Amino acid sequence: MTSPKATLSLLTRHSELAEPHYQLKLLDSLDLTRNPHQGNFSAALVAQGWQVLVPAKLEIFQINVGKLCNMACRHCHVDAGPDRKEIMDRETIDACLQALDQTEAHTVDITGGAPELNPHFRYLVDQCVARGKHVIDRCNLTVLLLPTLSDLPEWLAERGVEVVCSLPHYRQRNTDAQRGAGTYEQSIAALKRLNQVGYGQADPERVLTLMSNPVGAFLATSQSKLEQEWKNGLLQNHGVTFDRLITLNNMPISRYLEWLEASGNLQAYMERLVNAFNPATVAGLMCRNTISVSWDGRLFDCDFNQMLDLEVQQPNGQQPHIRDFDRQQWLQRQIVTRRHCFGCTAGSGSSCGGSLA
Ligand code: SF4
Ligand code: SF4
Repeated sequence: MTSPKATLSLLTRHSELAEPHYQLKLLDSLDLTRNPHQGNFSAALVAQGWQVLVPAKLEIFQINVGKLCNMACRHCHVDAGPDRKEIMDRETIDACLQALDQTEAHTVDITGGAPELNPHFRYLVDQCVARGKHVIDRCNLTVLLLPTLSDLPEWLAERGVEVVCSLPHYRQRNTDAQRGAGTYEQSIAALKRLNQVGYGQADPERVLTLMSNPVGAFLATSQSKLEQEWKNGLLQNHGVTFDRLITLNNMPISRYLEWLEASGNLQAYMERLVNAFNPATVAGLMCRNTISVSWDGRLFDCDFNQMLDLEVQQPNGQQPHIRDFDRQQWLQRQIVTRRHCFGCTAGSGSSCGGSLA
């Protein structure tokens, strides 16, 4: 099987945008003086009584096990692809597990790249399941068709792993536009495999969640409105069922930022995000209840800050590696925010768990 390819990574193309500081500089250079709070995220928070953004209870332990992916989607915020070789090694995975044991996190959220391509993926899942954690595999669907992973749907089902699958749209044209020609057909085939092993049929041990982000420079539509439409569309056209739909805003970083700039949409999209700031989303921002670990073991407030190389700020001034995880320091940190954060607070809000308000 050949995997669909929409582009190469920014890194391979030697794009300036491969550098996180260049992305931040580009976002900061936009003139948002006519927009609320002049496009300053801290000012928007202060106006709502948040002098600083502080953590809440740590619930989700998110591990990004690498940038390697079988696809190279045009809008990828990780700049992942087959040409990226960075993956988490076993030693770092064991350090994650030791840190996990110091927290009260109930969920381990495994992401990438395509996390299933990390050779230690099954070890990590088994270790988390043995600890009684709810495990999420963020799956791009097409990876399940690789011959080496043909047993994976059953394997995940046996362990009760929730599969959160990215699918831009339930119609072919929109999905292939974002992820590459042929993606839709492969995604439907993978969904059928998951249905065959019991996923997507209201079994709490076989939860199949679909995750959609807009194909274009607009905000995600409310997930409650879309879910029934998607359920009907996939059932009628393909006989596919799933349990729930979550919708995410595209974050103005990495390859989506590149697309915004190249298509002339960057200024308008940032204005849209800033103008749509929704105070009701702030308390539930995922950076408040999540720890995000990068493939090389560094710690971040969220996956987006990870991609922008914005490491955590702890009271002791250290930017620790996961092997030095200190729960108290973690809970006393101030969350690092910049302009991209407006992507999380716009409209119904956006997070790895879907909308927030
Ligand atoms: S969006 Fe997901 S599937 Fe696409 S390249 Fe990025 S990590 Fe891979
Ligand atoms: S990008 Fe979103 S989740 Fe991350 S720090 Fe900003 S507001 Fe929080």
